[in-house]
Amino acid sequence: MSRQKIAIVGAGLSGAVIGRELAEAGHEVVIFDRRDHIAGNCHTERDAETGVMVHVYGPHIFHTDDAEVWDYVNRFQAFKPYKNRVKTTSRDQVFSLPVNLHTINQFFGKTLRPDEAKAFIEEQADTSITDPQTFEEQALRFVGRDLYEAFFEGYTQKQWGCSPRDLPASILKRLPVRFNYDDDYFFHKFQGMPENGYTEMVDGILDHPDITIRLKTGFDRKDTGNYDHTFYSGALDGYFDYAKGRLGYRTLDFERFTYEGDYQGCAVMNYGETSVPYTRITEHKHFSPWEKHDGSVCYREYARECGPDDTPYYPIRLVKEKEQLAEYVALANAEEGISFVGRLGTYRYLDMDVTIREALDTARLFLDLHDKQERMPAFLNPPL
Ligand SMILES: Cc1cc2nc3c(=O)[nH]c(=O)nc-3n(C[C@H](O)[C@H](O)[C@H](O)COP(=O)(O)OP(=O)(O)OC[C@H]3O[C@@H](n4cnc5c(N)ncnc54)[C@H](O)[C@@H]3O)c2cc1C
Repeated sequence: MSRQKIAIVGAGLSGAVIGRELAEAGHEVVIFDRRDHIAGNCHTERDAETGVMVHVYGPHIFHTDDAEVWDYVNRFQAFKPYKNRVKTTSRDQVFSLPVNLHTINQFFGKTLRPDEAKAFIEEQADTSITDPQTFEEQALRFVGRDLYEAFFEGYTQKQWGCSPRDLPASILKRLPVRFNYDDDYFFHKFQGMPENGYTEMVDGILDHPDITIRLKTGFDRKDTGNYDHTFYSGALDGYFDYAKGRLGYRTLDFERFTYEGDYQGCAVMNYGETSVPYTRITEHKHFSPWEKHDGSVCYREYARECGPDDTPYYPIRLVKEKEQLAEYVALANAEEGISFVGRLGTYRYLDMDVTIREALDTARLFLDLHDKQERMPAFLNPPL
């Protein structure tokens, strides 16, 4: 096997894992990132004033059923147990999320048992809606107007910047309610937080003699010619200089504030009503409950449309964007010597575990095809 010179664009989880796998297989890897730090959007940094570990681009909780991915991350950083338990403030009260038996009993002032609650919610549901087309119709059909207005309508409106009446029903696939007191946000078998933050974990992944890291260095289409192959975890539309227009994203603004003591007693407090302009407040010291800090760092989180100079966070992926995406996929498939990876390269929302799984599979496919002297495709999985 000949040693290849590989460029990797982006030092987030996608780039770091692909880079590590290829370096371990004997290839020469150069990783570029525009930012002045590694770890991409998972970047964590200790606040100088309070000592709190801050999730700089918004909170990240690791959860997976993939045992290989769980072993992989634990190889580079010890994980501490962490369960995500979210609260929401609505109508001057604090409720438990996801909507569960506690939420239902508190909201309706009842003491229902699971079977009674199920029957009660069925009574609330709007059964006149037989073929829901919109998010709103789907929610009304599942939970009825009261719960919909208190817990789904305002939050969705703020998060997506449009009425739930203009979003497809497919966004809300399953009944978003639990008929027991389980308030663990995720169902996954393995859940936790890296003891010293994600950036230290990614630093461990990148610690290999055949990996060179170039921070504060952009990489674009003309640079690919200097390498045998490029793995690009930057924005797909950006690579083609937005030739087919900009793919739509939502971005987030974080309003940081500090507090002496415990500001809200939990890591995540949602605000479901449109009268409050932010979607949630996150208090970062609660993401590391094994640490003790007197001071506190919090973020008020505001969602809005992503402009050209903003950080793209959530791909919108409605009909218009999917049509545009099809055009970019066609352009990408016609390129030689490049594969598009990660959340921006494939224009998908990817959790960290899925990102790592895809990065491992991408590196393995590359090594296998390289052995067989076959062409590496532009995408591991079709983004559409
Ligand atoms: C608000 C928010 C909360 C999240 N919370 C969770 C969570 O709780 N749990 C979970 O599992 N997942 C969560 N995620 C998902 C997680 O952030 C992603 O899975 C992960 O960041 C994807 O890694 P990536 O390497 O593909 O992309 P990124 O982390 O975005 O890395 C891409 C990197 O490429 C660089 N780059 C882009 N273009 C160029 C260029 N042309 N030249 C040089 N560098 C370039 C960027 O600077 C960036 O550092 C969350 C995402 C968001 C937006």
